[in-house]
Amino acid sequence: MSQETQLLIAGQSVPAQQGATFERRNPLDGSVATRAAAASADDARRAVDAAAAAFPAWAALGPGERRALLNRAALALEARSADFARAMAEETGASGLWAGFNVHLAAGILQEAAALTTQVAGQLIPSDVPGSLAMAVRQPAGVVLGMAPWNAPVILAVRAIAVPLACGNTVVLKGSELCPATHGLIIAALQEAGLPPGVVNFVTNAPADAPEVVQALIAHPAVRRVNFTGSTHVGKIIAGHCAAHLKPVVLELGGKAPLLVLADADLEAAVNAAAFGAFANSGQICMSTERIIVDEAIADDFVARLAAKASSLPLGDPRQGPVVLGSVVDMATVQRCNRLIDDALAKGARLLCGGRADSTLMPATLLDHVTPAMAIYAEESFGPVKAIVRVQGDDAAVACANDNPYGLSSAVFSRDTARALRIAQRIESGICHVNGPTVHDEAQMPFGGVKGSGWGRFGGQAGIDAFTELRWVTLQTTPRHYPF
Ligand code: NAD
Repeated sequence: MSQETQLLIAGQSVPAQQGATFERRNPLDGSVATRAAAASADDARRAVDAAAAAFPAWAALGPGERRALLNRAALALEARSADFARAMAEETGASGLWAGFNVHLAAGILQEAAALTTQVAGQLIPSDVPGSLAMAVRQPAGVVLGMAPWNAPVILAVRAIAVPLACGNTVVLKGSELCPATHGLIIAALQEAGLPPGVVNFVTNAPADAPEVVQALIAHPAVRRVNFTGSTHVGKIIAGHCAAHLKPVVLELGGKAPLLVLADADLEAAVNAAAFGAFANSGQICMSTERIIVDEAIADDFVARLAAKASSLPLGDPRQGPVVLGSVVDMATVQRCNRLIDDALAKGARLLCGGRADSTLMPATLLDHVTPAMAIYAEESFGPVKAIVRVQGDDAAVACANDNPYGLSSAVFSRDTARALRIAQRIESGICHVNGPTVHDEAQMPFGGVKGSGWGRFGGQAGIDAFTELRWVTLQTTPRHYPF
């Protein structure tokens, strides 16, 4: 049975003004998963108007009250775990394992944001003007527009709005066309927690209307900060709109995370991290291990163990029971992955496990002996098809890791941790884990990328910096001297 979702504007669940809707279909059987309101640019502007109207009161609320509401929202979110699992399986084909992790981390993000309400601190700065008390003060920026994707839908939509709310901003969340009901459940949990009307607003749109709706949202004068998580291609379009309107933006974009296995690595640990990082959520994570860069000295042993592990991962319809790999999000993913496999095999790669698929149930697939001539060496697969590149020595491993337009996450495996740390410092990425998987996220960490993976950081103090205005305020405590 399909689900219905509406817009949320000024605390009211409403249809789009023209009554327009769009459908999201299940990727496996094509059944209608969700019928969602298809906002127009006017609807989008009304959502921002509502957020702007709610801003003064929310910004003035003490941190204790904001903290209590965000903590209640975390509980309300967790109470809906089963609904999230159902909605994610219906809309994106995600496994129950992935849905559970999403809700757990998203609740943690709300709790961390709740704790940050008392950390929005300023500074007293020594002034050369006698009697001047000079302050650097952090204030809420205004309306924050958050745009979230479908792949880690609960985590990334909550991340788009939690710290902005904690800092005293009001928000508009633009949900993904691929999971409107999943994103709608977050909104329902926030409403249930008792957030005042207009503090959180929710817009969904038909895929064809995305350019117009997004442009209207960014252009609205009340929007003072933008954040976007999605592809590098669309991220550049968003950055262009933000530049035209001089709006600061946090961009969390694509990735092609390398995992380096040095000659002295603990192979068992590296295999487990590589399998988890490559195939969690069928490889559809921005931090997914996309390139496994292995020293020739241990490559045969490592590859044999990884292939055995990858071939054993259960694959199936997540609506039927627990699996590691559920359905990928759409046939476009299957076609992209099939193209990458065909291209690599035609150019001399070796298929270790998995292979081409003709449905959205794609098996864990590993390609060995990948070279720069193959498309999969550089392109994000965003599916369960991953490349193994063999190199000789640490310098070649670092050069290979950096030979890519992206720079989000990375990992290095070595028993010599000082050596691994030196290599971590040379890798061009926002995030690097020594002896840990590329897929790792915690609410309090500065999360973000370099190069084509975007700019700006979510999480902890970095999030406060991104979603507040830093102002210089002075108080003249003695008569001021003027030259005339
Ligand atoms: P996408 O960029 O294709 O779509 C994101 C949204 O952009 C869509 O929902 C749509 O509303 C909007 N959009 C599309 N065309 C537009 C246009 N012309 N103008 C304005 N807006 C437009 O991304 P996706 O498929 O939803 O997500 C997958 C991508 O997200 C992958 O590349 C992945 O690596 C990346 N990602 C990054 C992070 C991170 O934190 N860095 C996390 C998850 C996913």
